[in-house]
Amino acid sequence: KSFDNYHLSDEIKRALSVLKYETPTEVQCQVLPLAMENKDLVVKSQTGSGKTASFGIPICEMIEWEEKKPQALILTPTRELAVQVREDITNIGRFKRIKAMAVYGKEPFAKQKEELKQKTHVVAGTPGRVMDHIERGTLELDRVKYLIIDEADEMLNMGFIDEVEAIIDELPLNRVTMVFSATLPKDVENLCHKYMKNPINIVI
Ligand code: AMP
Repeated sequence: KSFDNYHLSDEIKRALSVLKYETPTEVQCQVLPLAMENKDLVVKSQTGSGKTASFGIPICEMIEWEEKKPQALILTPTRELAVQVREDITNIGRFKRIKAMAVYGKEPFAKQKEELKQKTHVVAGTPGRVMDHIERGTLELDRVKYLIIDEADEMLNMGFIDEVEAIIDELPLNRVTMVFSATLPKDVENLCHKYMKNPINIVI
Protein backbone atom coordinates (compact mmCIF):
# COMPACT_ATOMS: atom_id res chain seq x y z
CA LYS A 1 0.00 0.00 0.00
CA SER A 2 1.39 3.35 -1.03
CA PHE A 3 0.21 6.74 -2.24
CA ASP A 4 2.44 6.15 -5.28
CA ASN A 5 -0.30 3.97 -6.79
CA TYR A 6 -2.67 6.87 -7.38
CA HIS A 7 -0.74 9.06 -9.83
CA LEU A 8 -0.85 12.06 -7.52
CA SER A 9 0.80 15.33 -8.51
CA ASP A 10 4.13 16.32 -6.96
CA GLU A 11 2.45 19.15 -5.04
CA ILE A 12 0.04 16.77 -3.31
CA LYS A 13 2.72 14.14 -2.68
CA ARG A 14 4.90 16.78 -1.03
CA ALA A 15 2.00 17.88 1.16
CA LEU A 16 1.30 14.30 2.25
CA SER A 17 4.91 13.84 3.17
CA VAL A 18 4.88 17.04 5.27
CA LEU A 19 1.75 15.70 6.99
CA LYS A 20 3.59 12.40 7.51
CA TYR A 21 0.86 10.45 5.73
CA GLU A 22 3.10 7.63 4.55
CA THR A 23 0.65 4.86 3.77
CA PRO A 24 -3.01 5.28 2.80
CA THR A 25 -5.61 4.17 5.33
CA GLU A 26 -8.26 1.59 4.40
CA VAL A 27 -10.85 4.18 3.40
CA GLN A 28 -8.24 6.04 1.33
CA CYS A 29 -7.27 2.80 -0.48
CA GLN A 30 -10.90 2.19 -1.38
CA VAL A 31 -11.94 5.74 -2.23
CA LEU A 32 -8.91 7.23 -4.01
CA PRO A 33 -8.87 5.10 -7.17
CA LEU A 34 -12.62 5.54 -7.71
CA ALA A 35 -12.59 9.23 -6.85
CA MET A 36 -9.84 9.80 -9.40
CA GLU A 37 -12.25 8.35 -12.00
CA ASN A 38 -14.99 10.77 -10.89
CA LYS A 39 -17.35 8.09 -9.56
CA ASP A 40 -20.21 8.89 -7.20
CA LEU A 41 -19.59 7.08 -3.89
CA VAL A 42 -21.50 6.22 -0.75
CA VAL A 43 -18.96 5.43 1.96
CA LYS A 44 -19.89 3.85 5.27
CA SER A 45 -17.04 4.71 7.61
CA GLN A 46 -16.32 6.15 11.03
CA THR A 47 -14.50 9.35 11.90
CA GLY A 48 -10.85 8.68 12.60
CA SER A 49 -10.58 6.45 9.54
CA GLY A 50 -8.86 9.09 7.42
CA LYS A 51 -12.01 9.87 5.44
CA THR A 52 -11.29 13.61 5.20
CA ALA A 53 -8.13 13.02 3.18
CA SER A 54 -9.93 10.41 1.07
CA PHE A 55 -12.04 13.21 -0.41
CA GLY A 56 -9.56 16.03 0.29
CA ILE A 57 -6.85 14.54 -1.94
CA PRO A 58 -9.04 14.15 -5.06
CA ILE A 59 -10.56 17.59 -4.48
CA CYS A 60 -7.14 19.22 -4.23
CA GLU A 61 -5.98 17.39 -7.37
CA MET A 62 -9.00 18.63 -9.30
CA ILE A 63 -8.95 22.32 -8.28
CA GLU A 64 -8.08 24.81 -11.00
CA TRP A 65 -6.27 27.64 -9.27
CA GLU A 66 -7.39 30.42 -11.67
CA GLU A 67 -11.11 29.80 -11.14
CA LYS A 68 -12.48 32.32 -8.65
CA LYS A 69 -15.72 30.60 -7.66
CA PRO A 70 -15.84 27.54 -5.38
CA GLN A 71 -15.23 24.21 -7.11
CA ALA A 72 -15.93 21.93 -4.15
CA LEU A 73 -18.56 22.07 -1.40
CA ILE A 74 -18.40 19.96 1.74
CA LEU A 75 -21.51 19.95 3.91
CA THR A 76 -20.93 19.06 7.56
CA PRO A 77 -23.33 18.76 10.51
CA THR A 78 -21.22 20.90 12.85
CA ARG A 79 -18.99 23.96 12.90
CA GLU A 80 -16.17 21.90 14.43
CA LEU A 81 -16.18 19.48 11.52
CA ALA A 82 -16.36 22.32 8.96
CA VAL A 83 -13.28 23.92 10.55
CA GLN A 84 -11.45 20.58 10.64
CA VAL A 85 -12.20 19.94 6.97
CA ARG A 86 -11.03 23.45 6.06
CA GLU A 87 -7.75 22.82 7.89
CA ASP A 88 -7.17 19.39 6.35
CA ILE A 89 -7.85 20.66 2.81
CA THR A 90 -5.60 23.69 3.38
CA ASN A 91 -2.81 21.34 4.47
CA ILE A 92 -3.25 18.90 1.61
CA GLY A 93 -3.52 21.74 -0.92
CA ARG A 94 -0.78 23.98 0.49
CA PHE A 95 1.64 23.56 -2.42
CA LYS A 96 -1.15 24.29 -4.89
CA ARG A 97 -2.02 27.37 -2.78
CA ILE A 98 -5.58 26.14 -2.47
CA LYS A 99 -7.86 28.47 -0.55
CA ALA A 100 -10.40 26.65 1.62
CA MET A 101 -12.91 28.37 3.83
CA ALA A 102 -15.38 27.32 6.53
CA VAL A 103 -18.84 28.88 6.83
CA TYR A 104 -21.02 28.23 9.85
CA GLY A 105 -23.51 29.90 12.14
CA LYS A 106 -22.39 31.88 15.20
CA GLU A 107 -19.61 33.59 13.26
CA PRO A 108 -20.60 37.01 11.87
CA PHE A 109 -22.13 36.73 8.42
CA ALA A 110 -20.35 39.88 7.21
CA LYS A 111 -16.89 38.46 7.95
CA GLN A 112 -17.64 35.36 5.87
CA LYS A 113 -19.16 37.50 3.13
CA GLU A 114 -15.91 39.49 2.82
CA GLU A 115 -13.86 36.30 2.71
CA LEU A 116 -16.13 34.79 0.05
CA LYS A 117 -15.48 37.83 -2.16
CA GLN A 118 -11.87 36.66 -2.44
CA LYS A 119 -10.92 33.65 -4.47
CA THR A 120 -12.25 30.57 -2.62
CA HIS A 121 -11.62 27.16 -4.12
CA VAL A 122 -13.28 25.00 -1.47
CA VAL A 123 -16.11 25.74 0.96
CA ALA A 124 -16.84 23.55 3.99
CA GLY A 125 -19.94 24.53 5.89
CA THR A 126 -23.04 23.74 7.86
CA PRO A 127 -26.27 23.61 5.82
CA GLY A 128 -28.06 26.52 7.52
CA ARG A 129 -25.30 29.06 6.97
CA VAL A 130 -24.49 27.79 3.48
CA MET A 131 -28.16 28.29 2.58
CA ASP A 132 -28.05 31.79 4.10
CA HIS A 133 -25.12 32.74 1.86
CA ILE A 134 -26.85 31.34 -1.21
CA GLU A 135 -30.04 33.27 -0.47
CA ARG A 136 -28.20 36.53 0.12
CA GLY A 137 -26.16 36.11 -3.03
CA THR A 138 -22.78 35.87 -1.29
CA LEU A 139 -22.01 32.28 -2.35
CA GLU A 140 -22.22 31.17 -5.97
CA LEU A 141 -22.18 27.44 -6.53
CA ASP A 142 -22.50 27.20 -10.30
CA ARG A 143 -18.84 26.09 -10.65
CA VAL A 144 -19.00 23.28 -8.08
CA LYS A 145 -17.66 20.00 -9.47
CA TYR A 146 -17.47 18.09 -6.18
CA LEU A 147 -20.15 17.79 -3.49
CA ILE A 148 -19.30 15.96 -0.27
CA ILE A 149 -21.98 15.25 2.31
CA ASP A 150 -19.98 14.42 5.42
CA GLU A 151 -21.50 12.61 8.40
CA ALA A 152 -24.78 12.41 6.48
CA ASP A 153 -26.58 10.44 9.20
CA GLU A 154 -25.73 13.11 11.79
CA MET A 155 -26.77 15.87 9.42
CA LEU A 156 -30.20 14.35 8.82
CA ASN A 157 -30.61 13.52 12.54
CA MET A 158 -30.13 17.21 13.23
CA GLY A 159 -33.02 18.02 10.91
CA PHE A 160 -31.05 19.56 8.04
CA ILE A 161 -32.76 17.63 5.23
CA ASP A 162 -34.61 20.63 3.74
CA GLU A 163 -31.49 22.80 3.67
CA VAL A 164 -29.40 19.97 2.22
CA GLU A 165 -31.89 19.39 -0.59
CA ALA A 166 -32.23 23.13 -1.31
CA ILE A 167 -28.44 23.44 -1.53
CA ILE A 168 -28.09 20.44 -3.84
CA ASP A 169 -30.71 22.01 -6.12
CA GLU A 170 -28.30 24.96 -6.61
CA LEU A 171 -25.46 22.76 -7.87
CA PRO A 172 -24.59 21.82 -11.43
CA LEU A 173 -25.87 18.36 -12.39
CA ASN A 174 -22.50 17.58 -13.89
CA ARG A 175 -20.62 16.98 -10.65
CA VAL A 176 -19.22 14.23 -8.47
CA THR A 177 -21.18 13.49 -5.30
CA MET A 178 -19.80 11.57 -2.33
CA VAL A 179 -21.70 10.74 0.83
CA PHE A 180 -19.86 9.70 4.00
CA SER A 181 -21.86 8.25 6.87
CA ALA A 182 -21.22 6.04 9.90
CA THR A 183 -24.63 4.41 9.45
CA LEU A 184 -26.95 4.16 6.45
CA PRO A 185 -30.51 4.68 7.69
CA LYS A 186 -33.40 4.93 5.24
CA ASP A 187 -33.35 8.75 5.01
CA VAL A 188 -29.67 8.73 4.01
CA GLU A 189 -30.36 6.05 1.41
CA ASN A 190 -33.26 8.07 0.03
CA LEU A 191 -31.06 11.15 -0.26
CA CYS A 192 -28.41 9.15 -2.14
CA HIS A 193 -30.98 7.64 -4.44
CA LYS A 194 -32.45 11.03 -5.24
CA TYR A 195 -29.23 12.95 -5.96
CA MET A 196 -26.56 10.50 -7.09
CA LYS A 197 -25.76 8.74 -10.33
CA ASN A 198 -25.28 4.97 -9.91
CA PRO A 199 -23.21 5.41 -6.76
CA ILE A 200 -20.72 2.75 -5.76
CA ASN A 201 -21.12 1.57 -2.16
CA ILE A 202 -18.03 1.22 -0.03
CA VAL A 203 -18.16 -0.30 3.44
CA ILE A 204 -15.10 0.11 5.64
P1 AMP B 1 -10.32 11.68 9.77
O1 AMP B 1 -11.00 10.35 9.79
O2 AMP B 1 -10.34 12.29 8.41
O3 AMP B 1 -10.83 12.60 10.82
O4 AMP B 1 -8.76 11.44 10.07
C1 AMP B 1 -8.30 10.96 11.31
C2 AMP B 1 -6.85 11.32 11.56
O5 AMP B 1 -5.98 10.51 10.74
C3 AMP B 1 -6.49 12.76 11.27
O6 AMP B 1 -5.76 13.26 12.36
C4 AMP B 1 -5.63 12.68 10.02
O7 AMP B 1 -4.68 13.73 10.01
C5 AMP B 1 -4.98 11.33 10.13
N1 AMP B 1 -4.66 10.70 8.83
C6 AMP B 1 -5.44 10.67 7.74
N2 AMP B 1 -4.87 9.97 6.75
C7 AMP B 1 -3.69 9.51 7.23
C8 AMP B 1 -2.64 8.70 6.69
N3 AMP B 1 -2.70 8.20 5.45
N4 AMP B 1 -1.57 8.43 7.46
C9 AMP B 1 -1.52 8.94 8.72
N5 AMP B 1 -2.46 9.69 9.30
C10 AMP B 1 -3.56 9.98 8.57
